[in-house]
Amino acid sequence: MSVGVCLRCGHRKPDYAGVCPTCGHMPYQQGLLVAWLLSEEHLSTEELAQTGERIQEGVVPQPTKEMLDRARQALGVHPEDDEGLSVPQRLGLMALALLITPAVGVVLWFSWRSVRPRAALQALWASLPTGLFAWAFIGWWAFTGWLR
Ligand SMILES: [Zn+2]
Repeated sequence: MSVGVCLRCGHRKPDYAGVCPTCGHMPYQQGLLVAWLLSEEHLSTEELAQTGERIQEGVVPQPTKEMLDRARQALGVHPEDDEGLSVPQRLGLMALALLITPAVGVVLWFSWRSVRPRAALQALWASLPTGLFAWAFIGWWAFTGWLR
């Protein structure tokens, strides 16, 4: 258990990964990486106090991708920790890809690729082939209609 500051209110927490005693915020997924960056595992006591003061002044912590990668390595977030998407979620994605655009899967993949690597790939695989198949079908239908 390491001391940290709350990424929402900037007050000290006895355990960076636990519930904030001041505002009740509990870091989750990517927030947990930020929480680690705002803990004494990563910062000195002095840096921690300064960072806490800045958050209390309203500054939102904006860690870079490199910092998040360091936190991910330290915390050991692996694809196996990501339980992925449920079957209804995948079917929903396929329906979205079919009816609207397969770009949904690409957007989800892009935003999840570092925090939920497994779900990200599943989203990509659920929507891309479905979307391509739909467009191929529409193309074939238009082509044969044009032949008649
Ligand atoms: Zn808090």
